[in-house]
Amino acid sequence: MKILVAGAAGFIGSHLCERLLELGHSVLALDNFITGSMDNIAHLTGRPDFRFIEQDITKPFSTEAEGPIDGIMNLASPASPKDYLNYPIETLDVGSAGSRNLLEIARVQNARYLIASTSEAYGDPLEHPQTETYWGNVNPVGPRSCYDESKRFAEAITMAYHRKHGVRTNIARIFNTYGPRMQLDDGRVVPAFVDQALRNQPLTVFGSGAQTRSFCYVSDLVEGLWLLSQSDERYPVNLGNPVELSMLEFAERIQAAAGVFTPIEFHPLPQDDPQRRRPNITKAKRVLGWEPRVSLDEGLACTVAYFKGKLSPVRA
Ligand code: UDP
Repeated sequence: MKILVAGAAGFIGSHLCERLLELGHSVLALDNFITGSMDNIAHLTGRPDFRFIEQDITKPFSTEAEGPIDGIMNLASPASPKDYLNYPIETLDVGSAGSRNLLEIARVQNARYLIASTSEAYGDPLEHPQTETYWGNVNPVGPRSCYDESKRFAEAITMAYHRKHGVRTNIARIFNTYGPRMQLDDGRVVPAFVDQALRNQPLTVFGSGAQTRSFCYVSDLVEGLWLLSQSDERYPVNLGNPVELSMLEFAERIQAAAGVFTPIEFHPLPQDDPQRRRPNITKAKRVLGWEPRVSLDEGLACTVAYFKGKLSPVRA
């Protein structure tokens, strides 16, 4: 199959491209590099089954010259709190205009369409763990609303194209994911803590550190996305690892993985930072036969090794 991947030069997008190529598909990769990087896909360019086009999907464009497309997987969006706070308008545009442009291509080409949505669709959740039937607790005018509402709109327009035009759609609600190719400076907790540990600096825990997250290794996540993209499930499916940790516990796990035990420094909690987050993945298990396989310790070991390679020599 020929699969269009939007956001192909991003963290998850680039791993997805690799997996699709491994499965024997060809990839039409799009990115505008707002937060992605050519470094993530440079090793794929030049392959006959991989074609890259620099394209902002919020602008009108055509893929006619590229021939028939069988599937579209839309991972295009700034996704870290720091990035979407820097690019709030672009984030809203990509979920709305960008989604619409790709859904039109899916409709015209009779291609499958998967949107990468997010656990942020649940906002600061009042139900725990979060199941797909929970409608969420989102502040529509808070700092994170540009991302949350963009993704909620993206889900809504995806369902509208399915209902109105019969497009074969899927909605993945992705929970915190980590692994090689995260940007060192994107502000997210995994690169932040690993970077700080490797530089022998204090780990910056926001708030009391009692807030929780659940971290999924990127190879597990990508497998879930692929399985979902081939399923007939039209309603959202949570993809994430249900092992839940407080940020204080997580800081300790990263210190252990890096073998560096620097002090913890407490910083103010950002506004609307969700207090608890953990996916209920019963539906993914039932519908896709999917569950994560990589343990946190294994995943962190690979991640720390990757970031070590990226850093200039660690100061003594
Ligand atoms: N966090 C932290 N220290 C940091 C960066 C993040 O304690 O240096 C916390 C943040 O407040 C949040 C959690 O880690 O509770 C996860 O943050 P991240 O930005 O990775 O993603 P989010 O899940 O909030 O989208």
